[in-house]
Amino acid sequence: MTAGSLDRIGASLRAGRATVWTREPTDAGRGSGVPVTLADVADASARMERFRPALAKLFPASGWDGRVRSALLDYPVSPDLPARLLIKADHALPMTGSVKARGGVYALLRHVEQVALDEGVVRPGDDYLMLTSPAAARVFARHVVAVSSTGNLGFSIGLAARAFRMRAQVHMSRDAKAWKKERLVRLGAQVVEHDCDFTETVARGREAAARSGAAFIDDETSRELFIGYALAADEVIAQLAGRSITPTVARPLVAYLPCGVGGAPGGVTFGLKARLGKAVVCVFVEPIASAGMMAALAAGGRRAVSVYDVGLDNDTLADGLAVPTASQLVLDQVGHLIDGAVALPDAMMVEWVGRAWRAAELRLEPSAAASLAAVIPYLNDRPEMANATHLAWTTGGSLLPDPEFEAILQQDCRQRE
Ligand SMILES: *Cc1c(COP(=O)(O)O)cnc(C)c1O
Repeated sequence: MTAGSLDRIGASLRAGRATVWTREPTDAGRGSGVPVTLADVADASARMERFRPALAKLFPASGWDGRVRSALLDYPVSPDLPARLLIKADHALPMTGSVKARGGVYALLRHVEQVALDEGVVRPGDDYLMLTSPAAARVFARHVVAVSSTGNLGFSIGLAARAFRMRAQVHMSRDAKAWKKERLVRLGAQVVEHDCDFTETVARGREAAARSGAAFIDDETSRELFIGYALAADEVIAQLAGRSITPTVARPLVAYLPCGVGGAPGGVTFGLKARLGKAVVCVFVEPIASAGMMAALAAGGRRAVSVYDVGLDNDTLADGLAVPTASQLVLDQVGHLIDGAVALPDAMMVEWVGRAWRAAELRLEPSAAASLAAVIPYLNDRPEMANATHLAWTTGGSLLPDPEFEAILQQDCRQRE
């Protein structure tokens, strides 16, 4: 790719048009930085299994077994959609109702485990139910974990940290919704509001944590977050197999993955490409205003690019995706594996919140509806993919309070008038 590609993509984005960037499917190539391996993912899977009883106890929901899993659903048939459109229902994940219950909670558990081992709360091989004891809580209460977020990551890490009685310091960018901050405060987390964007909030949170000695979970550079998300790949491949769907190069799986900083879609891409190679096509989806991953890909895919430098403003109602600059770690790990990117106007995400609710009773936030909204623009660009298996990853929304959800539905109604 050349700078010319970024010029063309940038002009389309600045004009506010739904924009598609694609290249031929790939499964190999360059990767740099500290590589993540499948052994890391297997290790993470075993860790999640060790924590399962503790999570089930700390988050008592009817019948929940402590496994962080979501359903694979069929989207209702419609003439303007591909015949086989599936939903990976992460909007309904346990604990936090967003994809952050994978990466964010995993990164937190990894830290909890480290503290518990260092402080002698458990020894390797012990039953991790001990981590929910009053004695463990007294130890955890001496430790502070900090995180920066546009909302969902802070919400998830804060919630999980408080469940173990660890102290939590959550730095929220100006995008974060009031209800998430209020819920965290009720749980005893310290919420620090910053009147700036995600990238600056990460820098400030990192500094504050360094000054105070808190452990900072860094959304831009954390391997743990990435690995936590990567776990989802084997889960969905097993679910596809359960439906006798085996993606092939001729009839691939096209996965639509909402992208903020890139950790969630990047981790999933890592896992899917490792297992399926060219039989999976990974498409990252962003709001136009925050299309930092598309800008980086159009500029060659090696270096992060700020949307401000492309003349965009990062102002989107898709708070989960309001990130001006993609993670360099993600570009290093999987930048070469991303097959496509779709950037959408906010109105299309709002439209799909309404449509997915009316057609399938999916309670999605705009960031999650982006995955569905990307399908038609992508197929317009790649009509030969019509017979593929299409998979929209709905990354959040089930915990939206009624007034929040209804406000988005009303916005959709007004748009249609
Ligand atoms: C965080 C988030 C994403 C994207 O994850 P990144 O790791 O930031 O790319 C997508 N959808 C929702 C709802 C999110 O909260």
